[in-house]
Amino acid sequence: MTILSFFTRASRAFNGYPASAKLLLLCTLSLSGGGVVAYSEAQVDASKTSVQVNEKDCKKKRVVVLGTGWAGISFLKDLDVSAYDVQVVSPRNYFAFTPLLPSVTCGTVEARSIVEPVRNIIKKRNGEIQFWEAECMKIDAANKKLLCRYTVENNLVGNDEFSLEYDYLVLAVGAQVNTFNTPGVLENCHFLKEVEDAQKIRRTVIDCFEKAVLPGLSEEERRINLHFVIVGGGPTGVEFAAELHDFVQEDLVNLYPSVKDMVKITVIQSGDHILNMFDERISSFAEQKFRRDGIEVQTGSRVISVSDKEITMKLKAKGEICSVPHGLVVWSTGVETRPFVKDFMGQIGQANRRVLATDEWLRVKGCEDVYALGDCATINQRKVMEDIAAIFKAADKDNSGFLTVEEFKDVIDDILERYPQVEHYLKSKHLRDVTDLMKDSEGNDIDEVDIEGFKLALCQADSQVKNLPATAQVAAQQGAYLSKCFNRKSKWKDNPEGPRRFRGSGRHQFHPFQYKHLGQFAPLGGEQAAAELPGDWVSVGRSTQWLWYSVYASKQVSWRTRVLVVSDWTRRFIFGRDSSRI
Ligand code: FAD
Ligand code: MG
Repeated sequence: MTILSFFTRASRAFNGYPASAKLLLLCTLSLSGGGVVAYSEAQVDASKTSVQVNEKDCKKKRVVVLGTGWAGISFLKDLDVSAYDVQVVSPRNYFAFTPLLPSVTCGTVEARSIVEPVRNIIKKRNGEIQFWEAECMKIDAANKKLLCRYTVENNLVGNDEFSLEYDYLVLAVGAQVNTFNTPGVLENCHFLKEVEDAQKIRRTVIDCFEKAVLPGLSEEERRINLHFVIVGGGPTGVEFAAELHDFVQEDLVNLYPSVKDMVKITVIQSGDHILNMFDERISSFAEQKFRRDGIEVQTGSRVISVSDKEITMKLKAKGEICSVPHGLVVWSTGVETRPFVKDFMGQIGQANRRVLATDEWLRVKGCEDVYALGDCATINQRKVMEDIAAIFKAADKDNSGFLTVEEFKDVIDDILERYPQVEHYLKSKHLRDVTDLMKDSEGNDIDEVDIEGFKLALCQADSQVKNLPATAQVAAQQGAYLSKCFNRKSKWKDNPEGPRRFRGSGRHQFHPFQYKHLGQFAPLGGEQAAAELPGDWVSVGRSTQWLWYSVYASKQVSWRTRVLVVSDWTRRFIFGRDSSRI
């Protein structure tokens, strides 16, 4: 056997094994048999024939999932696919790990290291999920139908449009970039939302440097080409600014020494501080770090237009308008609802809302059998004051017109679950027990309250209702929650697990969705990061960056991407980032 044919055979044999086995084999070889980290991933049972599946499918309810982002994939990961006919529609046939997108803009990690093909994920679910690479164009809520279209432009034969019926629809389509109708933004700005956006930014940054060193340019022209402007001082904008600064300082200054002092990075923020959704300590740490690094932070400025050469803004304090020339602008100011979701909102009586509303069980309001999660929807938390009379009536078991401490205690768990704002209110007032709310108008403890006293006790609780942030963490938790509800749909029908219904009788079928905040990171460059951890903990500095590395490595959706991301980080430590414009 020649060496070539030996390798061909070995490679064929190797490719026949599942990814986990291959990794295990590699680890075993490289560690000489010692201390291997073992793991398992659900594997394919290829024995199932499609005929068997189709026969069963006839009786199954069809769940159509729109979107393969954080919410959609997390829903699919845990869904009992044997109980439903599951069909997925998304224009992207991959899942993207968005928190690492800023790292892709500068080549700290490669684009393919942060994506996982949807078909890999399907394969792990016994292949019982059908995937269509297409975009939903319209939801026909009355007839439970979707109109979809294959969106990639090419000249393949066949129809581009098709319709799909559903029994249950799971909307997980995320949101789109919000330009606030600012003139010139769509045409002249880069965005940082999709993998393609990050790749485009990476190429453009290199373009700016190559252009700046061409002969025949004035110093002013070189400076303009190297002026990088980021609009939006939220986590994405700040992280990109930090990545870009590192790329310039660690790699590009050595490759383009003649222009190294001409680079300028500016962050424009309309509010008074960057990272203003974080704890104050983090936002001031970030501002100080950026000042030391020479990144200009221009707060209190609202961008009013962008042209191919200049960005024009209004300085809020003085009311002045000023324009600055730029080489590249990255627009990162927030998201808005997709047009086809807006159209759907019009059909179901939500036309005057900005974002699609669901109840606490992620069911779209005004429409049966449609669920929405992630960035495309917000939960409309029911106000306790809307139901206050019903709660009082249900709690006042002896119909005395007064609520005793015992009667109150009897319903409190249900109240806290159905209206979590009551718990937040107690915390904000540093009250240990809900019965501490039972006070008379002078603030003395009392044994019973009438309806007016009860209203007085809870009237401020609704001020604690907060919308959940548009983050991967929320989307992933909602996906996992909804799949649990779907898995238990039939079981919990006669055996409801949720809180009691104060309006009406019995209990809700499921517990409402509850978000657990596990903390949030803001990488700030130079191997430093800031983190807001549960329990009001704030951590900043190098150790936090290492925590960031370990959390983001562990959160990868597959071992394949985990290995790729970690090897990209290692490559960057050893060789620096690649500045080729490809
Ligand atoms: P997405 O993940 O956006 O997925 C939407 C899916 O719907 C996509 O697959 C899309 O192709 C598909 N879709 C779109 N239109 C249609 C259609 N018409 N029909 C069918 N499918 C459609 N969050 C954090 O918690 N931590 C972070 O560090 C963090 N960093 C971020 C960094 C960047 C650069 C960005 C852009 C976001 C970051 N986020 C972070 C936010 C996080 O990515 C989002 O909150 C999260 O992606 C929302 O998940 P989703 O499933 O709702 O939407
Ligand atoms: Mg009573």
